[in-house]
Amino acid sequence: MSSSPQYRRVLLKLSGEALASLESTGSGHKKFGIDPKMLEKLAQDILSVHQTGLEIALVVGGGNIYRGAQADAYPSTDRTSADHMGMLATTINGLALKSALEHYGMPVSLMSAMPIPNVCETFTRRKAVEALNKKHVLICVAGTGNPYFTTDSAAALRACELNCDLLLKATKVAGIYTADPNHHASAEFLPRLTYREVIERKLKVMDMTAITLAKENKIPIAVFSIYENNGFGKVLNKATQFTIIS
Ligand code: UDP
Repeated sequence: MSSSPQYRRVLLKLSGEALASLESTGSGHKKFGIDPKMLEKLAQDILSVHQTGLEIALVVGGGNIYRGAQADAYPSTDRTSADHMGMLATTINGLALKSALEHYGMPVSLMSAMPIPNVCETFTRRKAVEALNKKHVLICVAGTGNPYFTTDSAAALRACELNCDLLLKATKVAGIYTADPNHHASAEFLPRLTYREVIERKLKVMDMTAITLAKENKIPIAVFSIYENNGFGKVLNKATQFTIIS
């Protein structure tokens, strides 16, 4: 795949769900845990972009394991503990991704916003930039390191801090629609939006903190389907359907 001269450094936000199995169960899709097939697919997609020489940072979520934001589902757990559990869940995903990327021969730096020294490095901007300059795939886990935030906000924050040219948000469908296209045949695809439109229309693509941070720091956001074969590389080469927010 040819490299995209438009970009030097990009940040890809993967939800925890992107690592979970798509296998259908009686109650719909399984969205829990880590599916080795999805890990392999993600590693292959990332490899084809890494081979172009582009600098890649990843922020991974934890929703396939635990979401503290839904802690009311666990009434005896206080919100801060629940969020710490959620951030640890992202670290589990990060470790799985790191192993998968290394298996495909990529150099990887795994950095956590919460210090877990026996497991990985602690995120600092300086070390993160050094890793990216060395063409390591940088995996950022534990979100912002603070409760009451999400990994979408962490993705926007890291994209700003690391001077990324583009923030890619991987979702279940190819871009933003007026409604969920899996449930509404009349849903209309929206190829291009402003940050303001996303905020005013309350489009549920990333939380408002993330959109506001990206807006204030003029980082465009590309929204695309993680299930498309090589979707990550295709978006960078504008060879597939996606929505751009700028
Ligand atoms: N989380 C947090 N602070 C952060 C990022 C994440 O407390 O800066 C916690 C929060 O409990 C969240 C969980 O980690 O529900 C998993 O992250 P998220 O829900 O963003 O994962 P995703 O939906 O992307 O899989």
